[in-house]
Amino acid sequence: MADHERLQVPAFGATAVPTPIHARVSLSAWRNNLALLRCAAPQSKLLAVIKANAYGHGAVQAARALASADAFGVARLGEGVELRAAGVTQPAVLIEGVFCEASLALALRHRLDLVVHEPGQVAMLERASSAEPRVVWLKIDTGMSRLGFAAAEAAMAAVRLRKLSVVAEIRVMTHFAAADEPDSPLTLLQTQRFAAVASELAARVGTPVTGLANSAAILRWPQTHAGWVRAGIALYGSSPFADRSAAELGLEPVMTLSSRVIALRDLQPGDTVGYGAAWRAMRPSRIATVAAGYADGLPRHLPSGSPVLVEGRRAPLAGRVSMDMITVDVTGLPAVRVGSTVVLWGEGLPVDEVATAAGTISYELLCGVTRRVAFDYL
Ligand SMILES: *Cc1c(COP(=O)(O)O)cnc(C)c1O
Repeated sequence: MADHERLQVPAFGATAVPTPIHARVSLSAWRNNLALLRCAAPQSKLLAVIKANAYGHGAVQAARALASADAFGVARLGEGVELRAAGVTQPAVLIEGVFCEASLALALRHRLDLVVHEPGQVAMLERASSAEPRVVWLKIDTGMSRLGFAAAEAAMAAVRLRKLSVVAEIRVMTHFAAADEPDSPLTLLQTQRFAAVASELAARVGTPVTGLANSAAILRWPQTHAGWVRAGIALYGSSPFADRSAAELGLEPVMTLSSRVIALRDLQPGDTVGYGAAWRAMRPSRIATVAAGYADGLPRHLPSGSPVLVEGRRAPLAGRVSMDMITVDVTGLPAVRVGSTVVLWGEGLPVDEVATAAGTISYELLCGVTRRVAFDYL
């Protein structure tokens, strides 16, 4: 049993059991992507966004591989606590802040920095105390209409925050709605609105440190780089753009999800495959059954024809994705055997391409890999 085939099963204690499906995570690809993003925004500090278990890659492992990042960003308190419990000491920001007093107390105890995006969070901080004051990122809504203070409310919030001993520093941030679109006027409009708020704050509470850019803006909108950038998807080697591939950008895939052929059969014209008999052989066909299904994180709506790599060669999905299996048309690939390696996405098959076939984005595929997949960090 190769190391990469082991899956740690909690119920078995320290005993690992073999599994065909695994996610190989390349630490060198992670470091390459971080270096590339640093080069793209050389004047800015970089916050590595490792929310959602580092987009499905493993948050603690991400924090170790990306240890030279200036800070980490997570969405949920539990994600921040997990980092601290693992001994991660770098600054870490809750990018939606906290939603109740109990969470605030825990966040302060775990030295987590906070985004503050609505008045209730200011009020909670006014009632809080902390041995060590924290950085607060005041979030401005410049056009996303999801989180953040309106431009007219920002200065008042900053004035309130500045009085608090629990606040070490007020920084200002916003988030772009369409930085992936080269022709959208919204990015520059949001940037202008943000600049106006930042200069009003400079007059009221002193010049703040600022941050705007996500991966798309880091790579496409240098005028938005400011003091901090927040890199997410590009760190994982996926392109934030529909019109430029990760390879064109110099990004390397971090996760390669692969499994194995567990059965092979030869079909006659007219034979059908899988649930709903949704795929029908038009010619004598060879079908490989692969141990990977929606319970592993493959989207069930991935249509017939979507690509996988079997022994390094592209082959089309044939029929519906089942819970534990897919079926692939390997007609004309005589080297395929039971046990052959099948790459679902990653090296040789960009996750962006699979996401497009599934009608979604890479973020959703990467976050959706489930706990029964074994992870190897190489
Ligand atoms: C998730 C997130 C990011 C990272 O976005 P990517 O598109 O993955 O680079 C940046 N900022 C905020 C506030 C986020 O929530």
